[in-house]
Amino acid sequence: IMSTQPLTPSCGSCLFCCQSGADFRQRAVCEGCAQIISDRFLMRVNGASWHQKCLQCAACQQPLTDTCYFRDTKPYCKSDYQQLFAVECSNCLGKIAPTEFVMRALDSVYHLSCFRCCVCQRQLSKGDEFVLKEGQLLCKTDYERERALLSTLSPDITDSGNIL
Ligand SMILES: [Zn+2]
Ligand SMILES: [Zn+2]
Ligand SMILES: [Zn+2]
Ligand SMILES: [Zn+2]
Repeated sequence: IMSTQPLTPSCGSCLFCCQSGADFRQRAVCEGCAQIISDRFLMRVNGASWHQKCLQCAACQQPLTDTCYFRDTKPYCKSDYQQLFAVECSNCLGKIAPTEFVMRALDSVYHLSCFRCCVCQRQLSKGDEFVLKEGQLLCKTDYERERALLSTLSPDITDSGNIL
């Protein structure tokens, strides 16, 4: 669901690369206000151009000078982005920053380290077989063991008839 696009440095020294070529300036249209950029400096983010003044966090209005994250084409600073779009880990209920790696199972999202079998605590990784049972993760071995156990504990109910 999340797509984070941290800036890629293009000049090696700053995350925003300030372009000053006249040609380039003439054609540059600001992604934020859709006006042509005639400022001396413009900001380049993921191939799009921005006025320096237009590139500010959509939540706290701070100018974004080193990192920014995009969501629905709006730029956010890192802390707002993490707060606004953080998701909850289904295991520890802690917040997962949108920039973290996660494991997903159906509609649930987990920290990598929280994605473990609730019986044997083994951390499950990509390719492992697991079962999501009532919101709990079980590795396949434990799931099958549990299922076998349940079937011995609850034998088929048969009509016992009347006791005479
Ligand atoms: Zn602008
Ligand atoms: Zn902000
Ligand atoms: Zn967690
Ligand atoms: Zn297990």
